[in-house]
Amino acid sequence: MSAFAPDSQCINTDRIEDIPYQLLADKVPTPFYAYSATQIKTDFAELKRTLPQGIDYFYSLKANPNKTLVALLHQAGTGCEVCSLVELEIALRQGVAPGDIIFVGPGKHINELTQCCLAGIKAVVVESIEEMVLLNDIAAGLGVIQSIALRINPDFSGEKAKLVMSGKPRQFGIDEQLLPQAFTALGQLAQLRLAGIHIYLGTRILDWQALANNTQNILTLAAALQQTYEIDLDFVDVGGGFGVRYFDKEKALDLPALGEALLPVVNNYRQCFPRCKIVIELGRFLIARAGIFVTRVNYLKPSRDEWFAVCDGGANCHGSAAGINSLIRRNFPMARLGPSRHSDQHRYQVTGPLCTPTDLLGENIMLAELRSGDLIGIGHSGAYGASASPVGFLSFGHPAEVLVENDQAFLIRTADSVDTMLAPQVCQRLSLANA
Ligand SMILES: *Cc1c(COP(=O)(O)O)cnc(C)c1O
Repeated sequence: MSAFAPDSQCINTDRIEDIPYQLLADKVPTPFYAYSATQIKTDFAELKRTLPQGIDYFYSLKANPNKTLVALLHQAGTGCEVCSLVELEIALRQGVAPGDIIFVGPGKHINELTQCCLAGIKAVVVESIEEMVLLNDIAAGLGVIQSIALRINPDFSGEKAKLVMSGKPRQFGIDEQLLPQAFTALGQLAQLRLAGIHIYLGTRILDWQALANNTQNILTLAAALQQTYEIDLDFVDVGGGFGVRYFDKEKALDLPALGEALLPVVNNYRQCFPRCKIVIELGRFLIARAGIFVTRVNYLKPSRDEWFAVCDGGANCHGSAAGINSLIRRNFPMARLGPSRHSDQHRYQVTGPLCTPTDLLGENIMLAELRSGDLIGIGHSGAYGASASPVGFLSFGHPAEVLVENDQAFLIRTADSVDTMLAPQVCQRLSLANA
């Protein structure tokens, strides 16, 4: 049973798995996110089945850090790519082995690097020579050897990526031209062990040819480095950035074509470096399609020639659908949920509770006729939802999250309450005297 019908709208307007939305909304305050466990498992299984065998997949917690979802993906077979202390703790507390965790990010704090060394994770993905030196000092203080991967900012850039991470001045990774210095420095850093290299070129790539070319470029560079510096890597992390289809004009990533294109690329590399694992790290592609954002129409009001459906959750809960962080905002897949009323479609402006005109979830969108109290669903919302939204703005707080499997539903995050919102606000005099 799939959460979403495979039509262009991609939303099953009646139920998620076997549970009608109405029933969920009776139990959980709107707005909320609901995820289909079956869809998560199906999407990952299809990826694994279709791409060349033997690739290791790492889930980027940044896309959705809910611990229950992290555990579900890990049980399905992914490692974890984390970027903060809390993300590291989520992975460790969900039972992910340190050997299945990598830590990435341009601004890692001493505390974070220390915890990485204490846990003994698979690799700290270092992004500068300065960071290597700091990590070496920390590892020396703890008396451990820490494995690292060098994040490289290559001379080439990612084809067809919506956000470009390389090939130009960037805070991410070590410039390819600086690698000689990096390898010289590494020779002096006795507490570090070079386990891999990491290149992440960008995000939301829908073109299989571009992804195959990117992977080819990365593996060519990995091969050249291993020959030049006479090293033998455990793994090459070729990034990921696989996109999902959000907008009418987009075409979904053709996984079978990608799989076919990657097979010779991967096999050629493996012939030369049989011990070296290929790692793909993905956030959006593993979780986006399994999630739906459910918001309730509180008011339907006319203004001039338009009808506004004013909902209880908007850009504060789903900034991505409102176009935050995008150059142009476009409508996500969206539908009225619940039993059909056999009415015509009407044009709406779907807005949220914020006091700003940018709180716009759907612009000139055609939906089945709405009434106050109706539920609206936004599909493909499992990635970069609440955790990437300004949930503190106007103090509405983080919405609830629900995981559904067949006819069972689990509350996996409570909505913020007045108490949870107000608890961190204190007024404590700081003691400023020098010790
Ligand atoms: C954001 C990010 C990811 C995840 O990107 P998706 O597009 O969600 O797959 C993976 N790796 C790094 C280094 C990132 O910054």
